[in-house]
Amino acid sequence: PAPSVGDGDSSSAEPPVVIAHMLPDLLNLYGDGGNVRILEQRLRWRGIPVEVRRVGHGETVELSEVDLVFMGGGPDREQKLASEQLLAMRDDLAAYVEADGPLLAICGGYQILGRQWLWGDELVPGLGIIDMETRRPGTSADRLIDNMVLESPLATHPVVGYENHAGRTYLGPGVEGFGRVVSSCGRGNNDDDRVEGARYKNVVGTYSHGPALSKNPEVADWMLARALDRRARRTGQAAPKLVPLDDAVELAANEVMVRRLAK
Ligand code: GLN
Repeated sequence: PAPSVGDGDSSSAEPPVVIAHMLPDLLNLYGDGGNVRILEQRLRWRGIPVEVRRVGHGETVELSEVDLVFMGGGPDREQKLASEQLLAMRDDLAAYVEADGPLLAICGGYQILGRQWLWGDELVPGLGIIDMETRRPGTSADRLIDNMVLESPLATHPVVGYENHAGRTYLGPGVEGFGRVVSSCGRGNNDDDRVEGARYKNVVGTYSHGPALSKNPEVADWMLARALDRRARRTGQAAPKLVPLDDAVELAANEVMVRRLAK
């Protein structure tokens, strides 16, 4: 039948950017999932269609249909349950990453991407998608809980965030940090090198909990630009330029944090 008038021509309609939110029921400490809403909204503001697929515990997702993957952090029990499901889809996730699929992972979700991570007192295997590992803290060391300000190559403004973790993460030689901690507070990956998070291909891992992208809009747009490239490769539709948004409120919030924290 002829397409009905008013439905639009679906064959030429712009396909949505598909965001997979992995395990939102397990990995959502401090509102990490807010980052998905920010990514979604920044596309909507630009008139770019977007679809979010929430992949709950026990559910699957076809990553060949996905343009951006997000994983938050979770408490130990939830982090372990999530890691079991992610281990079962390890090869698909690794192929997605190797094909330059963008992935943003926070704290627990970030740790799981490495070769090993710390579950309570136990070192357990991770996905090994990024050459890094998370180890036990040294004898005198506590959890790392603090606000932090970073310099990151993904942003011209300082990146602000909040960390809360026990495990200490060390990057292998081919992996860059997401940034470098420049505030007098905050540690980042470990007690030693002031490196925070990781970048590998189009993966960004960070200890920055909560809706961190709200105060770091450049990082949100870096992820979205990679997602638009992925959609272009996937669908053959040219990637539109990301038109600048009015980020005055976001950057004012960022500046307040920087002023309070950076010394
Ligand atoms: N269990 C992790 C650690 O403390 C943290 C998990 C999280 O997302 N906060 O190292």
